[in-house]
Amino acid sequence: MTTNRTFTMLKPDSVEKGNIGAILEKINSAGFRIVAMKLTQMSNKDARNFYSIHRERPFFDELVSYMTRGPIVAAVLEKEDAVEQFRLLIGSTDPAAAAAGTIRKLFATSISENAIHGSDTNENALIESRFHFSEEDMF
Ligand code: UDP
Ligand code: MG
Repeated sequence: MTTNRTFTMLKPDSVEKGNIGAILEKINSAGFRIVAMKLTQMSNKDARNFYSIHRERPFFDELVSYMTRGPIVAAVLEKEDAVEQFRLLIGSTDPAAAAAGTIRKLFATSISENAIHGSDTNENALIESRFHFSEEDMF
């Protein structure tokens, strides 16, 4: 895995609202190449592990329940400076604070149900990609 890759999840609210196509169009238009992609549902154990860094936070149980309530689209994306460029594309965690035109500004409901995940470092991009995909499923 190079540093030009990041990991994303279109969260359950995006799938429920029928926003998969519109969000993928934004990602495509911004110049990201799809390296791997699948529709999948996280188990309680998966979500607790994936978000273990937040386990002491007051919103942890709500976050796990949200992320497991329905399918997500998990994907690995490639572009120069992918992690930072993708965080710019998705916008702030809280859609109320997100810049105009960002995916969270356009599609998120609240700071909790915020439509999409983006890795925050190259190291986490690699860990998160491997959480969902084996090497032979990354193209
Ligand atoms: N979250 C929440 N309440 C908060 C902060 C975060 O429910 O006050 C949720 C939200 O879904 C967010 C996720 O926890 O995307 C992970 O939080 P983080 O601070 O890592 O935000 P992100 O990196 O996703 O912008
Ligand atoms: Mg984060």
